[in-house]
Amino acid sequence: MSDRRIELIENSLRDVADFPQEGIVFKDITTLLNDPKAYGALLDMLQERYCTYNLDFIAGIDARGFIFGAALARDLGVGFVPIRKKGKLPYTTVSEKYALEYGFDEVEIHIDAFRDKKGARVLLIDDLIATGGTACAAASLINKVGASCVEACFIVSLEFLDGIEKVSKITDSYSIVKVN
Ligand code: AMP
Repeated sequence: MSDRRIELIENSLRDVADFPQEGIVFKDITTLLNDPKAYGALLDMLQERYCTYNLDFIAGIDARGFIFGAALARDLGVGFVPIRKKGKLPYTTVSEKYALEYGFDEVEIHIDAFRDKKGARVLLIDDLIATGGTACAAASLINKVGASCVEACFIVSLEFLDGIEKVSKITDSYSIVKVN
C-alpha cells in the first residue's frame, strides 16, 4: 500500500532542467500539489507516521515547507511555526547563518514561536533536502529557542548529496522520495 503511494507521489513531481541555473535539476512540487490523489496520499502517509509522535508543533521552512507543514499541523491538531528567510518575521527573532556554495544565507524564528513550552516536541518539514544547510540551520534554531526537534521530514531527498547525513547529526530524519 505505502509503496504504491510513494510511486504516486514520485510520479507527480516534475523535473525542470537548468532551473534556477544551468546544471540543476529542480524538483517541482507544484505538479504534486495540483494532483489531489498524490497530495492526499502524501498527507495521509505523513499523518499515519506522525500521529504517534506526540508532537506539540510542526515547523515549516520558508516557503514550500509551509504548504506541507501547515496542512499536516491541521491534520494532527498541533500548532504550526514558520521558519523564515531573514527580515520577514515581524517580532523578536533568533537567527542562524549557514554557508551556501558562494556566501551565506540566514533563517529566523520568533523567540516565542513555541509559546514558551519548554522542551516542546517539534517536527521540522521542508519539501526537499539537498546539501542540508537550510535544514541544519532550521533544526538548530528550534533547539536554540528551548524546544526539541524530534525529526526532520522531507518530501524529497537528493541522496547524491550529503544533506541527510549532515542533518542526522542534529536530529532523526525521514524522506519519502529518495533521488539517487
Ligand atoms: P539545501 O540547504 O542545499 O539542503 O537546500 C534545500 C532548500 O533549497 C530547500 O528549501 C529546497 O526547496 C531548495 N532546493 C535545493 N535544491 C533543490 C532542487 N534541486 N529542487 C528543488 N528545490 C531545491
